[in-house]
Amino acid sequence: MKKHLLSIDDLTIDDIDELFETAAQMHDVQGRSVKKLPALRGRTIINLFFEDSTRTRSSFEIAGKWLSADTINITGKGSSASKGESLRDTVLTICAMGVDALVMRHGASGAAKQVSEWTDAVVINAGDGTHEHPSQALLDAYTLTRHIGSLEGKHVVIVGDLTHSRVFRSNIKLLRKLQAQVTVVAPATLLPAGAKSWAESSGFAISNDLDAVLPTADAVMMLRVQKERMSGGFFPSAREYTVGYGLTKDRLALLRPDVPICHPGPMNRGLEIAADAADAAQSVVLEQVSAGVAIRMAILYHQLAGEGNDE
Ligand code: ASP
Repeated sequence: MKKHLLSIDDLTIDDIDELFETAAQMHDVQGRSVKKLPALRGRTIINLFFEDSTRTRSSFEIAGKWLSADTINITGKGSSASKGESLRDTVLTICAMGVDALVMRHGASGAAKQVSEWTDAVVINAGDGTHEHPSQALLDAYTLTRHIGSLEGKHVVIVGDLTHSRVFRSNIKLLRKLQAQVTVVAPATLLPAGAKSWAESSGFAISNDLDAVLPTADAVMMLRVQKERMSGGFFPSAREYTVGYGLTKDRLALLRPDVPICHPGPMNRGLEIAADAADAAQSVVLEQVSAGVAIRMAILYHQLAGEGNDE
């Protein structure tokens, strides 16, 4: 495994298999009443988050704690970054305290890679702008394999705001590595520039007809409409978006009942996903959250156990 986890590109198929195997073991720990393993005793992990987060930040924190590391959270709003300190100064300051890993989220694409060049600590990308969110893609694929087995040849449909989604970018890379067949569905205005050539080179399909695609899906991933990253009007109205691209009650009927429905969260209920779909028996949204802890334990374990260990 490479030192840092910045992108799905950093992982080989063997790395992914190993992470999934470890995550399965970590999942068992999650079910115990005493959820502690000594693997990262004496290690210090800083969660450095310059963007809001519920799931990712808390699950990395829990993952670190269950592996007996000392974990500390620093957010942009409560740190000297809000006083104008540069990212480089913030990172160098934190690392001068003797940190083993930085789990970092930042609004700028490429921020985690940049930080990895400034520090000796292991850097784990927990979301950089619209670029990548590797741990999310790993937990998504891990959750899907638990439901539908090997993803090879399975048809995974990713729907929504592709332009602003790092989850989409990491998922395409991972799902194609795992040889899933992928179709992305979005209005033309939410299809990122270069999507067509990327689709050709990495072998995924693009559609704007959700009703036509859903009956052949083996898994569906709904993406959040990321209003905070939108500067203009990307669609005429919320109602029109839902009519064209929402997973509504009617569309739910187009899916086989065993097809898992994923959403990375937070969900805009009533916009990209109806409550009927979010709360359906085939929704795996909360399983994704619990798998998120197991996958992040596996990531921390593989990136840190043994790394720089003097004992
Ligand atoms: N939580 C995911 C992310 O941080 C997805 C989202 O925000 O829509 O990218």
